[in-house]
Amino acid sequence: MTRSIAAACAACLLLLTSPLGAQDLGPAFRKIKEGIYVQSSREVSSTSTIVLTSEGPVIIDTGQTLIDSREVLAAVKKLTPLPVRMVINTEVHPDHTTGNFVFSPPALVINHAGAGEAMQKASDPNRAATLAAQSPEMRIAAEGYRLVTPHIEYRDKTTLHIGGRTFELLHMKNVHSEADTAVWLPNERVLFAASVALPGSINNIRPFVDIRDMLAAMKMMKALNPDVVVPGHGSFGTTKIFDDNERYYTLLLERVGAMVRAGKTLDQIKQELRMPEYADWSYQERMPSNIEAAYRAARGN
Ligand SMILES: [Zn+2]
Repeated sequence: MTRSIAAACAACLLLLTSPLGAQDLGPAFRKIKEGIYVQSSREVSSTSTIVLTSEGPVIIDTGQTLIDSREVLAAVKKLTPLPVRMVINTEVHPDHTTGNFVFSPPALVINHAGAGEAMQKASDPNRAATLAAQSPEMRIAAEGYRLVTPHIEYRDKTTLHIGGRTFELLHMKNVHSEADTAVWLPNERVLFAASVALPGSINNIRPFVDIRDMLAAMKMMKALNPDVVVPGHGSFGTTKIFDDNERYYTLLLERVGAMVRAGKTLDQIKQELRMPEYADWSYQERMPSNIEAAYRAARGN
């Protein structure tokens, strides 16, 4: 019985999987697996993913800008007549969540507990006007903007069964924003890794983030043994993204730790520390926030 239901679900998934290729959706889209399309408009842009299911698509993060969000919605309409079922936010920041309103309603939005409160606190009453002033295209894309915070907030972990697919949502504490969610599709072996580890890029580390928690989260995600890793920003790849970031943070902790033990102050460390091995990573201006985080870790707080 279970097997025949599973076979039927697989069959309807196939029927609802459009023959369109990623190239039909626009240059920013790549197909990862059957029915899974990721959009990233520029190298360091946030990723937004369409996961087709037999009960309607699920969107994971809603685009770097509202122009990207509109492009994802247009792609959805090419792929399926079904309404968007759910939006999963992997973090709270605007470059992952501002586009929530483009999909909701009808979609319900989900992220870990604390997401809604953080989004409310950071919300800017002039956001729609600021966006509209950026360009004529943005003015159109921002029409109808309103803050849409998660309808559902889970704790620690939860599993969604939607239209023949399984989404495991795993909370990662203190790794980037006030609510960070890794999304694991165990059947497809695709992992959406949020913004803990970014390929070829220095991360912006907030004062409440702990590098040791970031390293623990990378270890947890690597242990899932995914085929494909989709980071919160940049190109999708493999667990090499975690390996590269682990090496970077381990070296940073080592160097800052040695300087702390040598009696150097935080200001001296910021002046003197060099990471020439990572000079080609983008966002070098974020290095001071990385040194501060390593300094907190070295001093055990
Ligand atoms: Zn972020």
